[in-house]
Amino acid sequence: MANKWVYLFSEGNANMRELLGGKGANLAEMTSLGLPVPQGFTITTEACTQYYEDGREINEEIQGQINEYIGKMEEITGKKFGDLENPLLVSVRSGARASMPGMMDTILNLGLNEEVVEVIAKKSNNPRWAWDCYRRFIQMYSDVVMEVGKKYFEELIDEMKTKKGVTQDVELDADDLKELASQFKAEYKAKIGVDFPDDPKEQLMGAIKAVFRSWDNPRANVYRRDNDIPYSWGTAVNVQSMAFGNMGDDCGTGVAFTRDPATGEKKLMGEFLTNAQGEDVVAGVRTPMPIAQMAETFPEAFAQFQTVCKTLEDHYRDMQDMEFTVENKKLYMLQTRNGKRTAQAALKIACDLVDEGMRTEAEAVAMIDPRNLDTLLHPQFDAAALKAATPIGKGLGASPGAACGKVVFTAEDAEAWNAKGEKVVLVRLETSPEDITGMKASQGILTVRGGMTSHAAVVARGMGTCCVSGCGDINMDEANKKFTLAGKEFHEGDYISIDGSTGNIYDGVIPTVDATIAGEFGRIMSWADKYRKLKVRTNADTPADAKKARELGAEGIGLCRTEHMFFEEDRIAAFREMICSDTVEEREAALEKILPYQQGDFEALYEALEGNPVTIRFLDPPLHEFVPTEEADIEKLAAAQGKSVDTIKAIIASLHEFNPMMGHRGCRLAVTYPEIAKMQTKAVIRAAINVKKAHPDWTVKPEIMIPLVCEVKELKYVKKMVVETADAEIAAAGIELEYEVGTMIEIPRAALTADEIATEADFFCFGTNDLTQMTFGFSRDDAGKFLNAYYDAKIFENDPFAKLDQTGVGKLMETAIKLGKPVNNKLHVGICGEHGGDPSSVEFCHKIGLDYVSCSPFRVPIARLAAAQAAI
Ligand code: PEP
Ligand code: MG
Repeated sequence: MANKWVYLFSEGNANMRELLGGKGANLAEMTSLGLPVPQGFTITTEACTQYYEDGREINEEIQGQINEYIGKMEEITGKKFGDLENPLLVSVRSGARASMPGMMDTILNLGLNEEVVEVIAKKSNNPRWAWDCYRRFIQMYSDVVMEVGKKYFEELIDEMKTKKGVTQDVELDADDLKELASQFKAEYKAKIGVDFPDDPKEQLMGAIKAVFRSWDNPRANVYRRDNDIPYSWGTAVNVQSMAFGNMGDDCGTGVAFTRDPATGEKKLMGEFLTNAQGEDVVAGVRTPMPIAQMAETFPEAFAQFQTVCKTLEDHYRDMQDMEFTVENKKLYMLQTRNGKRTAQAALKIACDLVDEGMRTEAEAVAMIDPRNLDTLLHPQFDAAALKAATPIGKGLGASPGAACGKVVFTAEDAEAWNAKGEKVVLVRLETSPEDITGMKASQGILTVRGGMTSHAAVVARGMGTCCVSGCGDINMDEANKKFTLAGKEFHEGDYISIDGSTGNIYDGVIPTVDATIAGEFGRIMSWADKYRKLKVRTNADTPADAKKARELGAEGIGLCRTEHMFFEEDRIAAFREMICSDTVEEREAALEKILPYQQGDFEALYEALEGNPVTIRFLDPPLHEFVPTEEADIEKLAAAQGKSVDTIKAIIASLHEFNPMMGHRGCRLAVTYPEIAKMQTKAVIRAAINVKKAHPDWTVKPEIMIPLVCEVKELKYVKKMVVETADAEIAAAGIELEYEVGTMIEIPRAALTADEIATEADFFCFGTNDLTQMTFGFSRDDAGKFLNAYYDAKIFENDPFAKLDQTGVGKLMETAIKLGKPVNNKLHVGICGEHGGDPSSVEFCHKIGLDYVSCSPFRVPIARLAAAQAAI
């Protein structure tokens, strides 16, 4: 049987959203609820996909069905396309599975030509309206279907208004509009080279094609990427008989929400405009009136509308966002959908719906988009001010939040200015560990280079500081403390605002407001915790991060990156001494300095976690991030080690690596310098012993994690020294202490030989940052430079460093679990790459049977919610 490409509204229902798109499915559902919906048909999303497969053509089979359905629509409405008695006029609108407001195209008043206009002018006794519809149609059709810019038509309207000495479009009369329509058609012919089409069927096919084409327009592509909507879904097209809100003063059009989309409050919200068509409300040409006022102007239609609102809310059991038209006092529903809402409103609405008996707790949990929670946890831009602002550039939204401050170019300046009470945004080519204190002193961080897992991004997310990374459009001149963006030169002290959620960069001040956590937040989270199977841990390197994460519900530390504990001035000095030692003795001397820092930090982490698990990862510093580059630092190191500056420089040169991410890092460091692993073992075990003594009722069971293992013998080798050192410490303390030694799975070979590795590991933790880097062969630090081209070419839809690649990297994870668990039935498995806080990746982790995910503190609530949704 041939494919069915087209459905009447009366043939569909709300469950057919994949095929009919959200708008089409809801028009069908409203039809079956008996609501006043102008009838029509929906061309399926599959037809859109087919259009692209057929080289952007609507094939004959689909065209045939469209024509057949025009016939059916004519029967239902009793009107006919192009008829001179009772002409059918339609709107043509896009409607994807997930709503993409304003991203795609719409055409109204289709079916008009000069003859038809004359007919409806006479029939309605309203020639002004008839000609207004026609000129609007020519304008929209030319813009959307033929891509003739709107501006030419706007110019003609302006000329006409000047000629007539009026200022408003509504002051133009029927003759003016008729004259404009013929000017528009002349303009169309001049631009396109052919006459404006008079045949409604030709107009319709053109419009349908245009809607399909708009699925691939640049703003739709960007919107989809930001909102995780796959390109492959396609859009449906809805062809609906027109209801006219612009026929006179007993007509109008409006949009309304059943609850306040900003706060969630239960009250009808919206706007209404008399004698207007839909796009007038959206375009803001005339100021609409609040919906409540409609009660006075159109009491009957308003009363009916209120009933419809209740019917729809009760039916969908969610806040509805509706479009409607009043034609000669009669109400028509054009659209309903679950309304977009702020995070705060989402929480309130979900809780209210439970309290109203409309939703179960599990359903309420499933209603919240976890990504939205981010906005509740960080300062935000004042919504009105943000709306009024235009971005001057865009990087990656690497760490959410809003920041506004004066531009500084060095970490030292950030600290100094902050100490003076200034709010600053640190702008760097890229950040390095030395910048950490400056990063902490900044409202936000903006970098020219680096991707989602670059140093700046990872560290900023950990700190909960706003960060926009990888804005390659910035032309940076660090030496002269200035940069250029969008043609403007910025100097130290100039104001800039950055949005770490969208990656947008703004010139000047956009005021920020502190985030508030509404009472409903806790309720939703407690419901989520009832359903989820995955535990949620945090990536935390400092007691402050750990405490914050605990407040946000973390059940342990899944990753403490010990090299991040050396960012402070005096610590980094000792760390550099260790790196730049020539002999074991020198290195041991440096390690002696480091040990107390580490032990103290570990004790504080155990204290902060109050008996919950803590995984400490042994050193994994890409060395290039730590060696000194500034002359003063080199001199300082030389003095500390009693060496000449030249010797230090020679050592630094010898440490140079061509590919440091694949260089001397991870457990390779422990293999070459066992004394480092031994020192860290001592620090971990001594800290655990002290905390256990202080809190005998806590479970203190250190989890020591060996990074970047690719071969079981490598793990065995390092583990042996860990165990010998740990056992000696425990014996010396005369105390019982259990501990585990596990490994990260972050090299493809480790995943592929997980059955061997599991014989030596108590646990696996997927380091999906490196696993992604090495599976794709994309450098974590450099991928940002070329990924945009991959999006444009539709090779990728997402950044694999932000959203787990389930097909490739995911397969390696599944393989590792399948190989590892049968060999070691006690093996526990987690993830601690950045993906551990990404909702779709969390869902995947649930599916493949991980025990926990670990993510930066501010993403803990997101992971808790995503884990619950995966389990529901
Ligand atoms: C990883 O590689 O996923 C990981 C967590 O380790 P890091 O980001 O420190 O390399
Ligand atoms: Mg790693």
